[in-house]
Amino acid sequence: MRRDEFFVTRVRLTIFYTILAVVFLCAFSIVLYEILLGRLSESATETILDPTIRMIVIGKTADIIQNLIFLGDTLVLFLVIIVGFFLTKKTLAPIKETVRKQNRFIADASHELRTPLAVMKTGIEVSLRRKDLSAENAREVLAETLKEVSLLTELSNNLLSISKGHLSDITFEKIYLPDVLYREIERLKNIAEIKNIKLTLSGSAPTDKFVMGNDFMLSQTFYNLIHNAIVYTPDGGEVSVDYVVVGDRYIVGISDTGIGISKEAMPHIFEPFYRADNSRATNGSGLGLSITRSHVSLHLGAIAVKSEVDKGTKFTVALPVFSS
Ligand code: ADP
Repeated sequence: MRRDEFFVTRVRLTIFYTILAVVFLCAFSIVLYEILLGRLSESATETILDPTIRMIVIGKTADIIQNLIFLGDTLVLFLVIIVGFFLTKKTLAPIKETVRKQNRFIADASHELRTPLAVMKTGIEVSLRRKDLSAENAREVLAETLKEVSLLTELSNNLLSISKGHLSDITFEKIYLPDVLYREIERLKNIAEIKNIKLTLSGSAPTDKFVMGNDFMLSQTFYNLIHNAIVYTPDGGEVSVDYVVVGDRYIVGISDTGIGISKEAMPHIFEPFYRADNSRATNGSGLGLSITRSHVSLHLGAIAVKSEVDKGTKFTVALPVFSS
């Protein structure tokens, strides 16, 4: 909805409130007038014996009552219009905020989609213009294009996940959380190996304690956190994942000895498309943590982060535990 459309909606709602008030006031005023007129005739019959004078007094007093009711109604209507106009502003404020966020998200998403597309387009155009394009040059362009296609694929998958997060047909099942953690560590161990990062998993949890979760979402949640820990840790560092059941919560910690998150960046890391300055050298869409947080809250869990620049970061995820 555009800005002026909100204004039109406000005016429409105010008109609607006013019409309701007019109907209510008319009914109320007619009843009030009838009651007052009845009382007036009763007391006039008792106190004024002369019928002509009585009629004149009743007529004049009825006129005054009519005028007073009309004045009261006008005042109330005026108040309804003013108050209604301001109340509609308050009513529409959350919708306006949601629309603003959605528009911002769409703008950011299209910006992110445009960048790899522009890189591919320029690369291909420049190569096509070159008369002496060698097989090696062509391979370089194709490799570059493939990198951008991978980025676009990751981005579209992430966007899909975000929109899926709003759907209600997600299936939940009993999941033994260490299985998910083990699986994601297996998926990521090659990337850790390339960077010579020590990747470990430790912890213990009773086999009858499980999480009611969506397998895909939990996988994605821990993949994102462990992947980030590896990506933002310099070669030769350490990433450790540990888990424990405390009371009615599964607590999973993902710690790294990486670049850390600054105090300025901290409040923004869960925002879609946010990337801290010290992480721009790596590839990423800035959507991972936003998706992770929305998955965790869909599982009625919580996510927290502690970090120190150049020392490391620890993400902690807490999820409700169920017993079989
Ligand atoms: P991406 O990793 O694709 O940039 P994310 O949403 O996963 O996007 O993360 C947002 C930002 O949070 C990252 O760009 C990075 O600046 C910061 N961040 C996330 N995890 C870590 C970590 N383990 N260590 C340091 N910075 C991190």
